[in-house]
Amino acid sequence: AKQKGRDNAQVFAPEMASVVVKKFGLEQEMHEALELGQFSLEYQPKVWGDKSHIIGLEALIRWHHPVKGRVSPVDFIPIAEESNLITKIGEWVIDEALKQQNRWRKIGLKLVPVAVNISGRHLIHDDFVPYISGKLKAYELSGALLEIEITEGVLLQDIERCIAVMKALKALNITISVDDFGTGYSSLSYLKRLPIDVLKIDQSFVDECGKHTEDTTICETIIHLARNLKLVTIAEGVETQEQAELLNQMGCQVYQGYYFYRPMPSSEAATLLHENLSF
Ligand code: C2E
Ligand code: CA
Ligand code: CA
Ligand code: CA
Repeated sequence: AKQKGRDNAQVFAPEMASVVVKKFGLEQEMHEALELGQFSLEYQPKVWGDKSHIIGLEALIRWHHPVKGRVSPVDFIPIAEESNLITKIGEWVIDEALKQQNRWRKIGLKLVPVAVNISGRHLIHDDFVPYISGKLKAYELSGALLEIEITEGVLLQDIERCIAVMKALKALNITISVDDFGTGYSSLSYLKRLPIDVLKIDQSFVDECGKHTEDTTICETIIHLARNLKLVTIAEGVETQEQAELLNQMGCQVYQGYYFYRPMPSSEAATLLHENLSF
């Protein structure tokens, strides 16, 4: 029995240890990445109708790891979310996006709001709103040039706290969007209580829109719901003209996806803003 126990330990312990080491290693590396400037932002346009009307940009974080190369946010954001590291990363993203807005304004570009993705843990952190208002002041920007995207699940964690934070954001003129909408379980009464402006239809529904009745119905339902609540709908992950046309017929207003633009470095986004037809 003793022998068997030792064998088991040899089989399982190293594996578990390596998971722990990997995670801890990545966490450590993210701290270093912040210090060494390995993160950057790419910007994906949000369009109204067609490619020539860009009404906003979404900032997406990129990590250029010195050895591993590009690491996807899908692989490191969830780990960062397990600790206050996500707050540090979120603050870096906010600072970088607003710094970029300030630079673009200085060279005379017509600005559009930049959306940043914020985790629930960060949203309800005491420093969140003061940090943002401090940065808006420092870069001499109106809150109207900032948008916060939060996923639906966040809303269910601490609703009263969410409402308070969102009201403070609204007082600064910041737009609030619910990301990946349709994948969580928020009830309509929750939605009504929250001062949100935009619903982003999750790309899994957009992807199957027109192909499967269920997904088509979900898209339609979200668009109608949004209209009744006087919210804007954005379809994310639009990859084909067919999807865009169908969503347009359903009354969707704003689009984002590879069919229009892929995420791009700030220099390319600046070129687009330069050519952008404004309303
Ligand atoms: P998300 O916020 O839902 O962002 C949309 C993701 O879909 C992005 O992936 C974007 O590049 C990708 N995408 C856009 N259009 C299309 C399309 O037409 N087809 C397909 N297949 N994909 C498309 P990305 O940049 O890899 O980001 C993945 C996720 O990581 C984001 O999902 C978001 O949850 C998270 N993330 C990214 N940047 C940040 C950040 O700065 N902070 C936080 N907290 N999370 C972030
Ligand atoms: Ca997003
Ligand atoms: Ca999304
Ligand atoms: Ca997503």
